[in-house]
Amino acid sequence: MKTHVRCGTLFSACDQEAKPAQTLVYDARGILEFVGPTEQAPTAAAGDQVLDHSRQFVMPGLIDVHVHLAYGNAKSEEDIDLYSPLEFRALRGLFFAQKLLAAGYTALCSPGDAGQVSLSIRNAIRAGLFDGPRVSAAGPYITSRQSLTDWYPSWIGAPSTSIGRLVASRDEAIEEIRVQAKNGVDCVKIALDGIQRRPDGSLIAAFTSDETDIMVREIQRLGLKAVVHAIGREAVLYAARAGVDLIFHAFDLDDECIDAVLKGGSAIAPTLTFQRNIIDFTQAQDPAAAKGRVDHVRRQYERACRSLTKAHKAGIPMMAGTDSGFAVTPYGEWHARELEILVNDVGLSPAEALCAATRTNARFLADSERVGRLEPGRCADFIALDGSPLENISLLLDKRRILAVYLGGKRMTLPERDYDPRQVTDAALVNWTDVYTQARVAELRRDKPLARAAE
Ligand SMILES: [Zn+2]
Repeated sequence: MKTHVRCGTLFSACDQEAKPAQTLVYDARGILEFVGPTEQAPTAAAGDQVLDHSRQFVMPGLIDVHVHLAYGNAKSEEDIDLYSPLEFRALRGLFFAQKLLAAGYTALCSPGDAGQVSLSIRNAIRAGLFDGPRVSAAGPYITSRQSLTDWYPSWIGAPSTSIGRLVASRDEAIEEIRVQAKNGVDCVKIALDGIQRRPDGSLIAAFTSDETDIMVREIQRLGLKAVVHAIGREAVLYAARAGVDLIFHAFDLDDECIDAVLKGGSAIAPTLTFQRNIIDFTQAQDPAAAKGRVDHVRRQYERACRSLTKAHKAGIPMMAGTDSGFAVTPYGEWHARELEILVNDVGLSPAEALCAATRTNARFLADSERVGRLEPGRCADFIALDGSPLENISLLLDKRRILAVYLGGKRMTLPERDYDPRQVTDAALVNWTDVYTQARVAELRRDKPLARAAE
């Protein structure tokens, strides 16, 4: 039995055009056999299924290359690293992966993870135990004392349940890469810088250029993809020279960096949604505001948009990711915001943004040959939309506009389920966000006369 899908408009992501009156035909395994004008399509035989999306916009399922399935919509680094057992994180992550599917995301990469949480989610979905998007998984970040995920004081280090694996030498790094490869990861993530800066303000790369080369060579020798977290100039330069497959963030690119990235062939996934959401959603009472993080992120965002616009113009491939899994980037909510940002602030056309989230993102996935475009031989992973994202990219954020999601030719219907967020993530031990001295209390009472009335 074959399935014929009548599409009002089809954006196949094979090129940058949307075409009217198209048809998809796929076989019982969900593999596409025909993609083209309805008038040239094979006629449906008796017993074939015909799906009518002739008044809708059909495109490949979206892909997010930066979703942390293990984080659980965390409000703090401790929430991410310490409190939930790995077993619970896997169950929770599977639930949240389904939220992406409901939002039109049929594939994701989970780069950087505690234990084997994302791997287990990937395997459970792949084995057919649960419905969920196609997952490409990493293990814990390879981390040094200068890396992103070594948050805690040196006498604590990175606990075994954390998302970073602290390595003290090249040998330890190589051993960790080999362990992760044996466990079956699709990619290995290196935390190539963090938050430590030199007195002049420049971010310090967490590994030397030499160490980066050695790690990336070993990752790629084992047939895996290499991805780095690199915000600063130095880390981007080392990553580009080592030829990593994907660089996350790359906020501080000068001409030397852009040249090196072009030469090394890396793609960049700016992942600006996380920054934008911090700026737009953080409330005055949130510790992030009190610590001055919002202002810092705002300056960083503006600088990043300037350099990434240059990088895009220079021809560096852009991928779309969101850093979902934090309280400001909850699963299933803001994935398409990255496309809005790429269009509004980085200079991509809407068609380029759709390609970033489909065919370009697919290059980084384990399933790169099977997803990302609608063409014969690839999987029938597609969505049907009410309206054209080429006219209004933001409609992808409106769940009511996503009328149908198909994965491997099968329509996915996922129940909306309420849950208690306090039992899912909120285990951190912080109780107050202020210090209530007499002076502070008097100040608060001046601001809020009601508090005095309630005395
Ligand atoms: Zn991330």
